[in-house]
Amino acid sequence: MSELATLNIMYLPGVGPRKAELLKQELRIVSYEDLLYYFPYRYVDRSKIFKINEIHPDMQYVQVKGRIVALRTIGEGRTKRLSAWLDDGTGRIELVWFKGLKYVQGRLRSDLDFIAFGKPVVYGGQINIVHPEMEKYDESKVRLQAGLQPQYITSEKLKSNFLNSRAIQKLIFNLLQGYKEKFPETLPAYLLEKQKLMLLNDALRVIHFPPDNITLEKARFRFKFEELFYIQLSILRLKNQRTYNVKGLLFERVGAYLNAYYKEYLPFELTEAQKRVIREIRRDMGSGRQMNRLLQGDVGSGKTLVALMVMLIAADNNYQSCLMAPTEILANQHYETIASQCDKIGIKVALLTGSSNKSERDKIHAALESGELLILIGTHALIEDKVVFRNLGLVVIDEQHRFGVEQRARLWKKNVTPPHVLVMTATPIPRTLAMTVYGDLDVSVIDQLPPGRKPIQTQHFFHNHRNKLNRFLHQEIEKGRQIYVVYPLIEESEKMDYKNLSEGYEYMKMAFPQYEVVMVHGKMKAAEKDEAMQAFASGKAHIMVATTVIEVGVNVPNASVMVIESAERFGLSQLHQLRGRVGRGAEQSYCILMTSYKLAEESRKRMEIMVRTNDGFEIAEADMKMRGPGDLEGTQQSGLPFELKIANLSRDSQVLQAARDVALEILEDDPMLEKPENQILVRRLTALARAKLNWSMIS
Ligand code: ADP
Ligand code: MG
Repeated sequence: MSELATLNIMYLPGVGPRKAELLKQELRIVSYEDLLYYFPYRYVDRSKIFKINEIHPDMQYVQVKGRIVALRTIGEGRTKRLSAWLDDGTGRIELVWFKGLKYVQGRLRSDLDFIAFGKPVVYGGQINIVHPEMEKYDESKVRLQAGLQPQYITSEKLKSNFLNSRAIQKLIFNLLQGYKEKFPETLPAYLLEKQKLMLLNDALRVIHFPPDNITLEKARFRFKFEELFYIQLSILRLKNQRTYNVKGLLFERVGAYLNAYYKEYLPFELTEAQKRVIREIRRDMGSGRQMNRLLQGDVGSGKTLVALMVMLIAADNNYQSCLMAPTEILANQHYETIASQCDKIGIKVALLTGSSNKSERDKIHAALESGELLILIGTHALIEDKVVFRNLGLVVIDEQHRFGVEQRARLWKKNVTPPHVLVMTATPIPRTLAMTVYGDLDVSVIDQLPPGRKPIQTQHFFHNHRNKLNRFLHQEIEKGRQIYVVYPLIEESEKMDYKNLSEGYEYMKMAFPQYEVVMVHGKMKAAEKDEAMQAFASGKAHIMVATTVIEVGVNVPNASVMVIESAERFGLSQLHQLRGRVGRGAEQSYCILMTSYKLAEESRKRMEIMVRTNDGFEIAEADMKMRGPGDLEGTQQSGLPFELKIANLSRDSQVLQAARDVALEILEDDPMLEKPENQILVRRLTALARAKLNWSMIS
């Protein structure tokens, strides 16, 4: 591919410098290779010609053939339009143009058959087609626009510069015509054979000009497989390199701290899942290699306790650890839980956040450098270069989806030998995404909740049931429970959302005059926020009205009702996170989803799923199916080593599994990819990485 990657698109017939610049700006197409790999996003079947009397407005696209029997321009100025009526013997359909009237009018004739192609729409009770593609029909000639027609994504700017989908197709046609050599293969022969993949040279031609659906699917499969395969190969190779080249700290000892804690202070029996996960982590830390482990566990599964025990192992081996959380509220809460436990066994713990003042910081910095401070808890503030550890041995990152890979890497560098890394996430990640975004991490799963928990009951209420809701809330508070009421806060509508929040707060104060109501949101001063949180955590306040600042990690076991206002505005995984704030004690807990009466189909589905299941993994899968993986919170595809051009993580999970298996097999046999037959893989990986780097520098 190297030559194609260096040939500039500017020199392709039909392009030139101006269009080349546009293609670069709008579609990132610079080289011949870029254009060849600009795949259609769908295909329109233009083999079928419909009868006009068969057409109905639900059809995506239709193609009709007939004679123009009438032609008229209507209106004046900006509303001027051209209407033509096409008749095929079964009926008549109106074709409408608002632009390029002169040009179209000049081409339309009444003595020839025309084929019109476009989307039928209803206007004024009649079906018509606006701006159809027109083609003179000549029985004696082969039709260029027949069969499966590729559709390319373009932009308004490109379209107004004569680069619509069809023009792009034409450019690709020119390229394929003009390039007489074979496109060099990018997968090794043994792999093509074993996986029965179409050759690149054929697949590139087929994907742009498919002869039929079956052949097209074979070509698409090849590209999907290749794309996912190279992602897996690059992730797994990196992981290999790390395992072979990076020495890890050896934590062999289980000493006084862990023993004392385990025997005397452990507040409850560990669940089997917690025990298993701790064993897995200990095995890593005692292996002499650096641990890079993802700890997945649904909300409330008890990850914090695991983190604490692992930090105690580090302390037993004379190493410092830190725990990084995405928000101050969460860092505070971890600090309180962990410090209260560590206090009992004589380990000092400190908290470092954006609101720590200078003298606190100075003290912490000094205690870290002297080694006197064994455990540090905090927010992003931990990453700052000023924070220097004497011997950092373990980094725990809570709620990973809020941290980028780069931030993870900065923590690595805080010790000469990189510390062990434990990433904890409560956002269950669909398997396919986990394999891709976290494909380099080993995975442990806490698949069990602590005993005695009753599953949360979820109900969907409409706004007009507010009285019923209030009666229910009264009952719960009378039983001694506490209530969360959460309002959406979305950047684009921030002002409005804050207004709703404070109105909601005033309303709750009015509706529950005998109880204490507090409010928490991101714009409050840290001290005020703290005070409100404290009031709720201590049980003094009965109701907390908040934004999603409480989404992650907040732990008040006595809170048993989560009311989510305008629930239709939240995504599934966010709803699940919020729901996870209750159901943490032994009491029956409830989640109430409040929505308006009118709901879009999608929103209704989300509410149904929430009511139906508490299983985070099931919800994550459903979320990914409904939204597509690119939109999943915090796991944007930018986290992927390469951009996905054709594969889809929710639809192509089997292809992904196969690609990962093949990559594993190859690396097992040739861990550093040194064999001659694998050099093609190394070259391709390098080229892909370079392409990604180039683009990330430009954009
Ligand atoms: P998460 O996994 O969501 O971070 P937490 O660590 O906050 O969950 O734990 C949720 C609650 O469960 C806390 O109140 C914690 O004290 C409690 N917990 C953790 N482990 C156990 C256990 N083995 N038995 C009983 N309760 C537990
Ligand atoms: Mg947690």
